[in-house]
Parts: sequence; structure tokens; C-alpha cells
Amino acid sequence: MHVGPVTIDYDVLVAGLRGDTGFTSQEFVEAMSFSLKYLRKLMGADETYQPFIIPGGGTSAMESVASLLRRGDKVLVVSNGVFGDRWKAIFNRYSVAVDVLKCDPGDYVKPDDVEKAVKDEKYTLVAMTHVETSTGVREPVEAVAKRIRDKVELIAVDGVSSVGAEAVKAKDNQIDVYLTASQKAIGVPPGAGLLVLSERAVSRLSDESVAGYYLNLKNWVDVMRNLEDGKASYFATLPVQLIFMLAKAFELMDKEGLENRIKRHERVAQGVRAGLESMGLEIVAKRPETYSNTVTGVMVKKANPSEVLKAVLSEGLELAPGVHPALAGKYFRIGHMGWVTPNDVMTTIAVLERVLKRMGEPVNLGEGVRAVQLTYS
Ligand code: PMP
Repeated sequence: MHVGPVTIDYDVLVAGLRGDTGFTSQEFVEAMSFSLKYLRKLMGADETYQPFIIPGGGTSAMESVASLLRRGDKVLVVSNGVFGDRWKAIFNRYSVAVDVLKCDPGDYVKPDDVEKAVKDEKYTLVAMTHVETSTGVREPVEAVAKRIRDKVELIAVDGVSSVGAEAVKAKDNQIDVYLTASQKAIGVPPGAGLLVLSERAVSRLSDESVAGYYLNLKNWVDVMRNLEDGKASYFATLPVQLIFMLAKAFELMDKEGLENRIKRHERVAQGVRAGLESMGLEIVAKRPETYSNTVTGVMVKKANPSEVLKAVLSEGLELAPGVHPALAGKYFRIGHMGWVTPNDVMTTIAVLERVLKRMGEPVNLGEGVRAVQLTYS
């Protein structure tokens, strides 16, 4: 129950067990072609969008967005926490101007405030984070996009903790870049960044961009088009074995159905929150409308969060530390994405109850487990 990398499905893991398979092999080209096509579906994109699968992960996908920027462009970052701030850290490395809209930890930047900011200033790009992994807060991407769409050139969304677990509608919301990483709700080991670009975004790929070499999407676009068309192609080596796992994960997702997958995540998240609240614990996300399907931050009063993590690990449960600097030492996180089920929720809440009780946290023993049972009965 980590925020990523997450537990890997056995069939996904086994799909990567191949030796002597190069990037020109027919099997690899087929796995890429299938995965690129499925990526469009996963992102709620259509044929007008260009999918990319590149080495790295969330950060390489984020940094590749610099491919769309030119010297002097202005960027607005909407930040709800650590990963929102990462957009700023990335763009600060390039010769573009960066403004940031921020909020208190556990809160979110309101669509009204984003709308106001883009009225006052001309931005080429607005970058935001769908689910802020440091707090578990979900930004209302659809509402923000509606307010700003006709006032900015490009909108980019970091969907690292949302894609595969939350409704993602690149086309309907006219988002130009939607990105994610392999090791989160897609449920594949780390190693790939995945993104789709709108036609408008693709038209910005040029030699004038501020991007460097490896993560410059201009260098990758023809490779992606060729691979999707079934032709071997090379710019730099892709993580071959990982792509076989990705293709298997996409096959399983297709079998489950994307809507069912999102509903499963929603049910799992509901159970987690019901269990925590009934135990008497406070959730980091302040507003219910921003609760995410994938990450829940849990505040503790008496227990030391790093000791909690060690103790639950010794009972076979892995959770994630709190990483928001403003809440340091006050919380830990539960990740509930990928192949998670209500049974995982039951185990998580049961282990947490007894560990926290032992550590002197004022929890209602048994109440969390009961709430989970009631959620799923
Ligand atoms: N954005 C978000 C929302 C994330 O949660 C993460 C990783 N946890 C990243 C970006 C960075 O991804 P990576 O670690 O794969 O580079």
C-alpha cells in the first residue's frame, strides 16, 4: 500500500521475463504499437493526440514538457504541494519565466484563482498536478481547464497519481499534455514516462525549443509514430522488458474496463477513509471534494510516523512516509492504486489499528475494521 512503486501483478511481472529481445524485434514493436494506442484511450485522448512512451518516469515526462517552450515564454505553475513545486524546479532550469500559485498543505488552488492569474498575465503554459501525491489532494482539473482554456496556449497536467485510477479526459477538457509514470496506478515497475500531446502541443516541437537532447520530444516523435505503425525505430534505447510488462498491464486494464478500474479505486479509497475516520484519525486532505482515489495522508497526534512505518512493515504492510515539508513528522501516507482490492483495505486498517494503539495513538480499536466491513457489506 505504497504510493509507488506499487505491488506488481504476477502476470505483468512474468511478461517482462525475456532474454535476447532487442528494440528492433517484432515482439517489441508490437508491444509498443499496442501500448501507444492504448495510452490514448487511457488518457481520454483521440487520434488527434500523439502518444509517447519515454525512458525514466514522472519526472522525465514532466521535464520533456520543456520541448514545448521557447526562450522568454511565461509559465504558470498551479502547486498543491511537493510535486506541484517540482514543475517550478524543472522550468527554473530553462530560460523561461515561472510564476507559481500555491495553497496551504492539504488544501488546493481554486479554479477562481487560476482564472484570475491568467487574466492578469499572458501565459504560454499552465502546468498543474491532478493528484498531489504529497497530500493526496485532487485538483479539479476539469473546472480549471474550463476557466482558462481560451486564455492560455497550453495546459499540462501531471497525472502520475491519477492516470488509471481517476477519470482522465484529455480531449474533453482540451488538455494539451497529460502525463504519467509506469510505477503508479498503471501497476508496472518504474522505468517509463508516458504522455500524450495534443496537435497544438505537437506543433510547438521545434528547433527553437529550450529543451535539451534526450528529453526533447522532437527527437522522439517520429520514433513513436513509426513504432505505432509497426516499424522498428530508434532515437535512444527504450526499456524493452518494461514495455512487455506495460503491454500486459494495458491488456489486463482493457479486460477490467477503464470505468470499472476507476470504480474499484474509488471503492478502495472509500474503505480506507471510512476505516481511518472511524478509528478517529484525521486525513491530510482538508476538503472532501478533493479526496483522491489513490493517496490518503494520515495525521498522527502521539505516534512518530517513521516508527509507525517501521512497525507496520514488520507486520507485512508497507506504507509511505509524509513528504510535505510543512507537515514533516506529523503524517504518513497510504497508497491505494494499481491492483488494490477491498481485501487490501481490510488488512491495512487492521494492521494500522493495532500498531497505532500500541504506540499510544488515541484510536478506537475495532472501529476501523468495522467501518471497512460496513463499506463493503
Ligand atoms: N508527479 C507526481 C504527482 C508524483 O507522485 C511523482 C512521483 N511520486 C512524480 C511526479 C515524479 O515521478 P518519478 O519519481 O517517476 O520521476
